[in-house]
Amino acid sequence: MEGPTPLLELQNVTQAYGTGAKRFVAVSGVSLTIHEGEFVALLGPSGCGKSTLLRIITGLQKPSEGRVLYRGQPLAGVNPHATIVFQTFALFPWLTVQHNVELGLKARGVPKPERRERAIALLDKVGLDGFETAFPRELSGGMRQKVGFARAMAVEPELLCLDEPFSALDVLSAETLRGELLDLWTGGELPTKAILLVTHNIEEAVYMADRIVIMDKDPGRVVRDMKVDLPYPRSQKSASFLSVVDTVYAVLAGRTEAEYVEMGTAPGQPGRTRNLPEIDIAGLAIVLELVSQSPTRSANLYDLARELKLDSDELLKLAEAAELLGFATIDEGDIRVTDLGVEFAEADVTERKQLFAARIRRLPIFEWLLDMLEKEEDHEMQWDDVQDLLEREFPSEEAERNVETVVEWGRYGELLAYDDSREVIYLETPEREEQV
Ligand code: ADP
Ligand code: MG
Repeated sequence: MEGPTPLLELQNVTQAYGTGAKRFVAVSGVSLTIHEGEFVALLGPSGCGKSTLLRIITGLQKPSEGRVLYRGQPLAGVNPHATIVFQTFALFPWLTVQHNVELGLKARGVPKPERRERAIALLDKVGLDGFETAFPRELSGGMRQKVGFARAMAVEPELLCLDEPFSALDVLSAETLRGELLDLWTGGELPTKAILLVTHNIEEAVYMADRIVIMDKDPGRVVRDMKVDLPYPRSQKSASFLSVVDTVYAVLAGRTEAEYVEMGTAPGQPGRTRNLPEIDIAGLAIVLELVSQSPTRSANLYDLARELKLDSDELLKLAEAAELLGFATIDEGDIRVTDLGVEFAEADVTERKQLFAARIRRLPIFEWLLDMLEKEEDHEMQWDDVQDLLEREFPSEEAERNVETVVEWGRYGELLAYDDSREVIYLETPEREEQV
């Protein structure tokens, strides 16, 4: 049975960045179809290639492999029927709110009176009536983001793409803006045929979308495409809502892999170097402590996120770290604390540091760094040099983040120290002290 032509179709899209040894596959073999009338959420951890896909969909970037069809036709160049709203929408500070909204219309040759009219109507729609002549600096973050929405919608895009549009806002503004956008969409008041929302927030995806495409990273790929059959407006506390959230958690927090896969390889070695999750170590201890107190030593990650009032993304990173360190295993959205994890949770600060140090020493990336430092004359290296070496494994932003995490974990475990004024990482060994 042939349905209507989809609005958008990605066929087996792959995106690699860089060449040679630096070649890095950001997105691999993604196929995705969006029909008119759909509100699709693209959900996945940071770095799984969501923004990359949005750029490909809007034609800002051509994929290394695969096809992009818009209304059945291969996309050539920038897609005039799609627009993106970014996390922090760039408004021109010297233009009024209204002129900012009119910008895109001007570029498309819409005559001045009509521009005015459409901008004013949209600003009214997003609740900014009366702010037409204000300047961006006079607005709160939430209001500025509304101007961003208005500007994106002014050109009446068929496909409205939103790249983590709420994640730079405070909790309350984000909540309000989500509700308002949904009201406009479900009320048929938006001049768009479909919405594609990129997010790493599970609850946000379940709250807003009628379909969730779940991605995972290394390499970025689609792991599940699921319908959300909940009527609007959705209650975040209803049992049916919670059950969908739970299902998504189970998909995202897969199961613990074999140890050698989990830990990755050292930089410079064949195979993937494990990206270290960016976490708060105190938070890790709290989670382990809490879960190890339950009779089964396990907990459902979603319940835990609610109990601890943690963002789903943050909790998943904590779970990932716990797993990497051997403090917990993950299965189908449940976390189970290991004996080692219990030991860590029950230890005092000194013992915790020792245990932590022993665990991170086993990670190939630490072995590699400690070994290099050992061989250096003063047992020290410049931060930038370490980062340069890691840039052979990771894109530069990620390389930097990994150095930050290595240093933070190493300092906690008292294996490493960092001298801020000279920007050097050095070894914190007892031998070193004895030498003095
Ligand atoms: P997400 O939006 O899901 O966080 P991105 O699409 O921004 O993911 O990035 C996916 C991966 O590709 C990341 O590892 C990122 O560092 C890398 N990446 C993104 N853009 C580029 C680029 N222009 N050059 C090199 N690497 C990139
Ligand atoms: Mg992104």
